[in-house]
Amino acid sequence: MALHKDEAIILLKRAYGESDRIIHLFTLGAGKVAAIAKGAGKSQKRFMNTLEPFNHIHVEYFEKHGRGMVRIENADLVAANDGIETSIRKACAAAFFAEFVDRLTKEREPHAQLFHALKRLIDSVRGNDPTYADVLHHQLGMLETLGYHPNLDSCVYCGADMIRQKKVNFSGERGGVLCDACARSLPHRVCAEGTISGLISARTRCGGFDNRAVEREAQEIMESFITYHIDVDLRSYRLLKTTVF
Ligand SMILES: [Zn+2]
Repeated sequence: MALHKDEAIILLKRAYGESDRIIHLFTLGAGKVAAIAKGAGKSQKRFMNTLEPFNHIHVEYFEKHGRGMVRIENADLVAANDGIETSIRKACAAAFFAEFVDRLTKEREPHAQLFHALKRLIDSVRGNDPTYADVLHHQLGMLETLGYHPNLDSCVYCGADMIRQKKVNFSGERGGVLCDACARSLPHRVCAEGTISGLISARTRCGGFDNRAVEREAQEIMESFITYHIDVDLRSYRLLKTTVF
């Protein structure tokens, strides 16, 4: 058995038998790792609440030869999830991104950029109630690090730069904006003028949309893009949508 030391963010915690807990760690060095915390349910002293979702920890774990679940030996807090529990909006947003990372990454694939992106999201959510534009900002950033970002800069079909054209044609299927010429022959949605530009500005900064209708349309576009290209149904997103947006 080898002992590993790493930093990790807790993505998920669930009961396993009476006294053990299954923990999904998103580690800086090794990506997603499924772990068992023996005795974490029985005695709170064993891990002193360090294994709560969204905590950032230093962790030591044992790995048996080959694959399978690792066993958490020690865990110390780097930063607690304090503040997330203070509003439903914060809790839902954090839960959405934890599931997003959990479902969109494979075990043992290191992803330092995504680790830091998740850390930034958690820190930001701890401080402020996120708006849809804030969630979108972090989501677009994470999609980019995973290689799934929608193409919002040039025509996704012919590659034409669209500096002189209004970006209003979006193809969920192709995964980005279409120029006027390509839009004549390809199925697409014609968006309001502020929608694509709102998405572009959400990519670089947190902030708001011009109005609620444009925000709603951006949300629909992102949903169609995710459904078509990633095809994971995130339970936490449905919750976030019905309770918060
Ligand atoms: Zn084109």
